Amino acid sequence: MEKPKLYITRKVPEKILEPFQQDFTISMWKYEEEPVPREVLLKEISDSHGVLCMLSETMDREVFNTGSSLQVVANLAVGYDNIDLHAAREAGVVVTNTPGVLTESTADLAFSLLLATARRIVEANQYIKEDKWKQWSPYLLAGMDVHNKTIGIVGMGRIGEAIARRAQGFGMEILYHNRSRKVESEKQIGATYVDYATLLNKADFVVSVVPATPQTNHMFNKEAFQKMKRSSIFINISRGSVVNENALVEALETGEISAAGLDVFAEEPIRSDHPLLNKTNVICLPHIGSASTETRSSMLQLCLENISGVIHGTGPITEVK
Ligand code: NAP
Repeated sequence: MEKPKLYITRKVPEKILEPFQQDFTISMWKYEEEPVPREVLLKEISDSHGVLCMLSETMDREVFNTGSSLQVVANLAVGYDNIDLHAAREAGVVVTNTPGVLTESTADLAFSLLLATARRIVEANQYIKEDKWKQWSPYLLAGMDVHNKTIGIVGMGRIGEAIARRAQGFGMEILYHNRSRKVESEKQIGATYVDYATLLNKADFVVSVVPATPQTNHMFNKEAFQKMKRSSIFINISRGSVVNENALVEALETGEISAAGLDVFAEEPIRSDHPLLNKTNVICLPHIGSASTETRSSMLQLCLENISGVIHGTGPITEVK
């Protein structure tokens, strides 16, 4: 009997694929850093049983209609805003994501971004590289303290809680906002539930960890930035669509907020002439939240196990429902 076909939309290490080679005919796109062209994706998907895809692929109705043998799409991310779930369901295709395995790495990155923005780490590094360090002075590159300040976490889910645990170690007051209260976490982490306006109003650091949904679209808009303290720092590690970037640029230029640390953007990748890149008080990263070698390998492994589970009938581990 012919083995089911598995298509992977980027070049990934062969070693991770080894345990799955005997059960699947595996093929993958030839480049690690370049997304698969749409026409190649459609061609490959037409006879695939499983697809391991990235955020860079728009998995829409056309894709699901083309994949007549397709049973499962495993997204290499916890967010799945690149996938039309409705179209997948109608086509009878299971969609899986990678929650949990990337939680701690993404929280590490969020906290790195928070610390780096508050203490102007990138700017300070650039200062030396440009040979501007002539002498010491009392307020040279003085930033904002992190310890004992108030962090406001918007989206206290898995990653939000992991960020909160890190904030605990810095003696921070922890405020959070979700659609639902998490009483158990409040006890464990010492976090306080507040409404959105109160969080914006009180936090020194506003951290976005909400998923991209129609409800969260542009939830950080002009009004939201106006509610924030002028000294506050905005950190976004969730998705670019939650922010109105024009409003963010304006808030930074008018001093409505003091700085921002961003891992995600409305349209990715951004180019070097993006208005957020010409500001010394903004640190931008190329969507590397979960990008540690260990975590990326765990994410790939989980995707492959999800695909294997669906195709062999034992069921997926982390299905998007
Ligand atoms: P999660 O456990 O599902 O947490 C999301 C939280 O957001 C939930 O607690 C949810 O609580 C809250 N939420 C959802 N809709 C909301 C709304 N309209 N208003 C307020 N709160 C809302 O997900 P996670 O694993 O922590 O991941 C969170 C997001 O981080 C992902 O969706 C992804 O977009 C992003 N992410 C980014 C990277 C990166 O590389 N930068 C890496 C991993 C994840 P309620 O349901 O009670 O509202």
